[in-house]
Amino acid sequence: MPGRTVRLTGWGRVSPSSAEVASPGSAAAAAEVLARGTAARGVIPRGLGRSYNNAAQCGGGVVISTAGLNRIIDLDAATGLVTCEAGVSLEQLMVAGLPAGWFVPVSPGTRQVTVGGAIAADVHGKNHHVAGSFARHVRSFEILLPGGEPRTVTEQSDPSLFWATAGGMGLTGLIVRATVQLKPVATSRVRVDTVRTADIDQTMAVLAEHDRRYGYTVAWSDSLARGAGLGRSVITSGDFAEPGDLSPADAKDPFAFRPGARVGVPPGFPPGLINRCTVALANQAWYRKAPRSRSGEIQTIGTFFHPLDGIRNWNRVYGPGGFRQYQYVLPFGAEAAVRRSFELVSQARAPSFVTVLKRFGAGDEGLLSFPMAGWTLALDFPARTPGLAGLLDRLDRLVVDGGGRVYLAKDSRVPPDVLAEMYPRLAEFRKLRAELDPEGTFASDLSRRLGL
Ligand SMILES: Cc1cc2nc3c(=O)[nH]c(=O)nc-3n(C[C@H](O)[C@H](O)[C@H](O)COP(=O)(O)OP(=O)(O)OC[C@H]3O[C@@H](n4cnc5c(N)ncnc54)[C@H](O)[C@@H]3O)c2cc1C
Repeated sequence: MPGRTVRLTGWGRVSPSSAEVASPGSAAAAAEVLARGTAARGVIPRGLGRSYNNAAQCGGGVVISTAGLNRIIDLDAATGLVTCEAGVSLEQLMVAGLPAGWFVPVSPGTRQVTVGGAIAADVHGKNHHVAGSFARHVRSFEILLPGGEPRTVTEQSDPSLFWATAGGMGLTGLIVRATVQLKPVATSRVRVDTVRTADIDQTMAVLAEHDRRYGYTVAWSDSLARGAGLGRSVITSGDFAEPGDLSPADAKDPFAFRPGARVGVPPGFPPGLINRCTVALANQAWYRKAPRSRSGEIQTIGTFFHPLDGIRNWNRVYGPGGFRQYQYVLPFGAEAAVRRSFELVSQARAPSFVTVLKRFGAGDEGLLSFPMAGWTLALDFPARTPGLAGLLDRLDRLVVDGGGRVYLAKDSRVPPDVLAEMYPRLAEFRKLRAELDPEGTFASDLSRRLGL
């Protein structure tokens, strides 16, 4: 199956590269692609391309898209155990599961993510403090090793391959199918409480308190606020609603879920519209509009979990230069460093349009899995922001010194030696890869840059 040569980027639209893209329609066809031997530049799986930079790119090599591996094989309505191909999206699982009262166990801020991509990045959601990350809910997966040999992996049968693959960014093989335990819900709506906080200390205190009371919680912060308002945020926390929480109209269809893209960003959207003035104004307006405190609001899954999915191709608003996401986690005890990171961003006047702070629970065994118990902050900046490189280097230093790390699914620029300081199990990962894939068949632009 010779692929077409395609120019690819991640969601941030920085670092394009061209590769031959193969789209096998079955696991057997995918195995053939691997068995045939790949280009000298290697091969990497790709799901829906929602990682922010080039984890799913392989310039000059082969990219195996899982777009054709998109079938749900079995969904047990009694147990919520679903077996599906790796290219099935979380949205597909919601559409299939909700009528029987099942939701995905972990949802990132977009549902346009494949099951393969969710395992490979070991994604987290607003419920990490209670549910951990995605791999915790994966009962087994089938992976094609270099050469195309299939292997069924469970945490018990092959813990090293399981935990190298969870968070392993596609570098241990191509996942072709997985069995995942879904989460039971009583309705498809979320009962949401909102609190507006005045500064970073209050933001952290409310997040800590809400972690004890709610299954889902997150703070949307004003990254440009300074002085007494540094770190002011709107915190939304909630749990799935019970049928009795719904209005009579909603109660008629308690599991209603209507996905589908809404408005799109026009291709000619003026570049440069996201800048420090517009972001400062937008942040202020959005902060002031939020209620000081509101409880019991009923929201849809889309509004609560995936507000950005409401705008198709919203990544275009940053213009052709694209944008850089930066997400760190700092362990509990490093609160001063979290505060300092807010100071650095606001002092640099770097306009982060989406700034999200939350607390993680304990991390899992994934060798390169991102979450660890602590504070995680996600920021996104137009790539052309003046002084951005220096700011992100300063944040790296703060994160390393505080014992934290950055998220590979979002990284576009961390230096390899800094990454090694952040991921203490990187040497174990490299050793396992060298044994599993001595020829270096699986490789991505990300892995080449960082020597993963
Ligand atoms: C708006 C938005 C919000 C987000 N919010 C969050 C969040 O809250 N939490 C979070 O954790 N992440 C978040 N992300 C990041 C996203 O969840 C991850 O990057 C996820 O991996 C993307 O899945 P994908 O299917 O698009 O994979 P891709 O981006 O295509 O690939 C990501 C990685 O997975 C590997 N991969 C993909 N499919 C397979 C496969 N079948 N077998 C082996 N490896 C594979 C690729 O090689 C690559 O390394 C967000 C992204 C966006 C755009």
